[in-house]
Amino acid sequence: MSASSAPGRRSLLLSLLLSLLLGCDAGTSIQNRQFLAFGTLMELTLAGVDGQRADRITAVIENDFHALHQAWHAWDPGPLALLNQAFADGERVALPKVVKPLLLASRTLSTRSDGLFDPAIGRLVDLWGFHRDDPRDNRPPSPEAIAELLRQHPSMKDLRLDGEQVSSLNSAVKLDFGAIGKGYGIDLAVERLRSMGVENAIVNGGGDLRAIGDRGNGAPWRIAIRHPDGEHLLGSIEVSGDESVFTSGGYERNYYWRGERYHHIIDPRSGYPARGTASVTVIHSDATTADAAATALFIAGPTQWQRIARQMGVGMVLLLAENGDLHMNPAMRARVKLTDESGTRIHLSAPFPAATMAGEQ
Ligand code: ADP
Ligand code: MG
Repeated sequence: MSASSAPGRRSLLLSLLLSLLLGCDAGTSIQNRQFLAFGTLMELTLAGVDGQRADRITAVIENDFHALHQAWHAWDPGPLALLNQAFADGERVALPKVVKPLLLASRTLSTRSDGLFDPAIGRLVDLWGFHRDDPRDNRPPSPEAIAELLRQHPSMKDLRLDGEQVSSLNSAVKLDFGAIGKGYGIDLAVERLRSMGVENAIVNGGGDLRAIGDRGNGAPWRIAIRHPDGEHLLGSIEVSGDESVFTSGGYERNYYWRGERYHHIIDPRSGYPARGTASVTVIHSDATTADAAATALFIAGPTQWQRIARQMGVGMVLLLAENGDLHMNPAMRARVKLTDESGTRIHLSAPFPAATMAGEQ
């Protein structure tokens, strides 16, 4: 995982907005608990449990998240850092159990995204300075340094798995699970909640979440979608059953240098922050896929998102382009309630094929 700065004023404001949206009706017992993990504010919303049980459940989930963060951190000492060192040294090593499922899921999702989502580009993320706790004082790397890494072309395809052993054919591979780790952690948290008998809950990591069940009274959860301007909500979505809603935006982590803004979602083809997209929201069953897909579709942008979404098996996408236009597929259009669509150009895609897309009509 890449480290992130402590939640800023914006994310606290958004979290408050989200809490207001989620906790606005009376008559049901909804418990909200917050803690910091993965460098972001995590919120657990539990329906139908009392305060003491909510505290106990939160302690378990918080503990799980801290253990995962430690294991997956690409830069701090830990299993992933050791693995990355082995790749750099050209050594074959045992694949730690805690990393294996994430690595396998990442490899599949990377292939399906045509390599737009590729956690092997940790060195590019390093180069841009987004592994630092606070990237605000960064400046862009030299074009030569970027070109050199592009020439080495680290990719998930370079990894070789041999039983429980792993090696890399390319010494420039450095795994950074920043674009998928939170989603995977949220999926594990949902499994843990279910094992504790919790059926109605939301696990929310800085606005990216998976919601299960309902508000405890049959009413759906209502999920806010952030507007990249940080001040407003783009819209809301009702969720019941089991769905994940993930958003990737260039507004999350960025810095300014000579009047240009540089954000943390890097296009592996160019080595530069992806252009053309302001934010992407996806709805999907599992959070792991939703997280990786939101990042990949951000890079795919207004012209390629449909193809990549279909390949990744994601059935509902909302893409806000840098020019203010909204791009959606019909299934997303049917689900999202936009806060204000007056004056917004909406581009509706053809429906995705029903055979591969859950939820598409
Ligand atoms: P957030 O976690 O803020 O919602 P993302 O899920 O889009 O954002 O993940 C962005 C992070 O993923 C970056 O900070 C970096 O660590 C890593 N990353 C950047 N570009 C890519 C990419 N093309 N593929 C995989 N990981 C990436
Ligand atoms: Mg992501």
